[in-house]
Amino acid sequence: MSDIHIDVLIIGAGPSGCVAAAYLNNKGFNIKVVEKSVFPRFVIGESLLPRCMDHFEEVGLLECLKAANFEIKRGARFLRDDVVCNFDFSKKHTDGWNWTWQVPRADFDNILVNEIIKKGVDVSFQHEVVGVNIADDGASTTIVKDPDGNEYNIHAKFIIDSSGYGRVLPRLLDLEKPSTIPEHSSIFGHVKDINRPEGEEGTLITFDVLDKDTWFWVIPFSNGNTSLGFVGKNEFIDSFEGTTSERLQTMFKQSDYYYKRFKDAPLLFEPKSIRNYSKAVKQFYGKGFALTGNSAEFLDPVFSSGVTFATESALKVAKVLTKELRGETVNWEEDYANYIKKGVDVFATYVKEWYTGNLQTLFFHRPENPEVKKQICAVLAGYVWDDTNPFVKKHDRLVKTFAHLIHMEQEKSESI
Ligand code: FAD
Repeated sequence: MSDIHIDVLIIGAGPSGCVAAAYLNNKGFNIKVVEKSVFPRFVIGESLLPRCMDHFEEVGLLECLKAANFEIKRGARFLRDDVVCNFDFSKKHTDGWNWTWQVPRADFDNILVNEIIKKGVDVSFQHEVVGVNIADDGASTTIVKDPDGNEYNIHAKFIIDSSGYGRVLPRLLDLEKPSTIPEHSSIFGHVKDINRPEGEEGTLITFDVLDKDTWFWVIPFSNGNTSLGFVGKNEFIDSFEGTTSERLQTMFKQSDYYYKRFKDAPLLFEPKSIRNYSKAVKQFYGKGFALTGNSAEFLDPVFSSGVTFATESALKVAKVLTKELRGETVNWEEDYANYIKKGVDVFATYVKEWYTGNLQTLFFHRPENPEVKKQICAVLAGYVWDDTNPFVKKHDRLVKTFAHLIHMEQEKSESI
């Protein structure tokens, strides 16, 4: 294949790559997406946040998704022992979407990529990026392997790396750094939900908290299947023996609330496992490239922030890049890296405070504080750039402070 010359190369056709591609295509740039796999393909990350609806709407990808009738997600339920903590996205501090979806990603991502192809984006499936050379002025030559194993070059003014766990540029340019999130692993799969109860109970996204470090997700889909997954410290996940099916089936027994519903539910494929899933990078951009979505950073699944971060970062990169390609002066550090880090920092606090137990103290303390709940709900809906929300602005202090106050109150009442 002869060399290709374009404005922007996008690596990966997940939600991040599709949102970046849709925006730049709408602006008339000459772009190309290369995707290693064949779609539809399985990927984990099925519980979305309302904030990502803003992104799909802005780039013209919302209507195709609406037509798919995915299960509507109006909030999230957390269970611990007999206490239930229900977040309702219509009761949140920040204005914004009150709902989103819970989706089998194979179908969801397939709709997105087909829509950008329909809009004219050039997407090559089974084409894998295997090497890259970026000159001092940012112009790049990327080596791509086609399905027959032949290599060819793509010359681009800019590369957006949306390769998810492929983490193409972090690997090729040595940008990886250890994550500061405590190490956890996960085992997950899909079942045919043969005992699904009627009504809301059957469709609710739930996080069943087994102990401070261990939790179990239940994400029902509109196609009658449900995603189930365990998250825990490596020692917990490693303590189960056998195939991933056997391990997941033994783990179900730990959930008093759900065991009966899922004990006979047939698994739809051999469950998958991911070890030490948190990822970080030394930098979010460089001359001639930017990293978006999981290729840049992944924290933890507990607040379902992955896809929303993937689309937020993709849209931001596409906007800054549009200005740059039009000859305007842009400040990548300010306009991209600092912006994204601000949101990542808020979620990182919530994830860390989840595993210290402080956030769980706030979620499960009774009676609930309605004002605090509304503010935390806005964070869980993905609105983590709203500084009018004290639980965003002072995220590093408030969760700790409130948990401390609750602990003091509990100690006082126990000593009476
Ligand atoms: P992806 O969707 O992974 O897409 C990247 C694409 O790049 C892939 O299609 C891949 O084939 C392609 N690619 C890779 N390498 C190459 C290459 N060399 N050349 C060309 N193409 C390449 N997020 C949520 O929002 N909600 C959840 O409930 C949730 N649960 C999770 C549970 C677990 C256990 C884990 C580990 C993560 C979870 N996530 C969740 C995170 C979610 O999986 C990711 O954040 C999200 O998929 C990132 O989207 P993306 O577009 O960046 O990458």
